[in-house]
Amino acid sequence: MDSRTMPSPEELEKMLEKAKKEAEAALAKLTPEQRAEAEMRAKKLMEEDAAAMRELVESASKLSAGAAPKAARECPHCLAPVGSGRVCEYCGSPLED
Ligand SMILES: [Zn+2]
Repeated sequence: MDSRTMPSPEELEKMLEKAKKEAEAALAKLTPEQRAEAEMRAKKLMEEDAAAMRELVESASKLSAGAAPKAARECPHCLAPVGSGRVCEYCGSPLED
């Protein structure tokens, strides 16, 4: 680790303390309404993060489910899902295979 570019834990703590004080000072200047709105916005951002994370997990599990071998066939003509028949029951096209 490079001590010339990386702040020491003490420096980091000072920086965090300073940022916290600045944030508190900024909040103190706001009206109660503005403060409530800022807090609400921060909360919403966190909730959106959680929702995005859930979506990511869901799409990942859907992808892995879709990767499972499935015997579904599509009509080459109308792309309707077809069963095991020799003719598409939607458009009547003959099905190969
Ligand atoms: Zn068809």
